[in-house]
Parts: sequence; C-alpha cells; structure tokens
Amino acid sequence: MAFRKLLRLASIYLPPRRRRCVICSRRVHRFLPYRDGLASEAPLMRAVTPDRQRCGQFHVPICGAHDRERHLLLYLRASGLFEAITGLHILHFAPETRLTDLIAKQSPGRHVKCDLLPSASDIQRVDLTAMPFEDASFDLVIANHVLEHVEDDQRALPKLLAF
Ligand SMILES: [Zn+2]
Repeated sequence: MAFRKLLRLASIYLPPRRRRCVICSRRVHRFLPYRDGLASEAPLMRAVTPDRQRCGQFHVPICGAHDRERHLLLYLRASGLFEAITGLHILHFAPETRLTDLIAKQSPGRHVKCDLLPSASDIQRVDLTAMPFEDASFDLVIANHVLEHVEDDQRALPKLLAF
C-alpha cells in the first residue's frame, strides 16, 4: 500500500513532467498503470496489441481520468463533436465521470446518463438490448467500451443506430 502511494506521488511530482492530461490539463511525470500493469492485461490483448505501454499509462495520478475517457475526449475534439455539443440531446452509456463534467459545461440540451448497473443516482438503469427511449430521440449516442460487455451485442447495435 505504501508503495502505491509513493508511486502516485512520484508520478505527480518527479521531473520531467512530460505527460499532460487532456481532461484536467495538468502535467505529470507519468500516468499510473492499470492495476498490476501488463500482468493484469488479458492474454488476447497482449497477443494483438503492439503497444506494450498501454496498461502502464492507464490513469492520471491527479484527476484519476482513465485512458478510455482521455481517448474519447481527444476523438470528440478532433471530430468537432465536442464543440458542437451545445443544445444536443445526448444518450451516454457507462458515463465517464470526468468527461460527463466536461460535457455538462458545454450545455447540452439533454444529457441522459445510463448504465446496466448504475453507480450514481443520476444514472438511469437501462439495458442496451431493451431501451425505453423513442427512436430518433437523441442527436449523439456515446457508448465507449460498452458493447464488449453486452452478451447480445447483435441485438444492441441496431438499437443504438436507431437514434
Ligand atoms: Zn486529468
């Protein structure tokens, strides 16, 4: 436990601070690994991924942003979607905490957060294969790292495309 605390502090304060978090804009020496780093990575991922540093660059030691939400924000900005969020109706599955806060600052018209297993009171319990929403009722659907957890993804995908 003391080692993890020391690693976190060193990751924040050691020079040089080459890494910058796109979520909070803070600079750190390095990002922290996912659990036990490469040792906790699934064998299939080890076999198909040439980037051996991926699990070692998982979360930001200051704000806690995970790689998946940093990558999603980069995509949303590069595609112009992030700047276009104002007034949009957004359906967001497994909402990433820090990204959700940034989306709120963009003033969407509606931001419905949902998950099969909600972790907060403002997140609705929704099954991707049996959604309670009307077709074409959202302008943007965010489901990042979600479909791989849905047993019947062939049934879920047409539902997502209907929006
Ligand atoms: Zn950050």
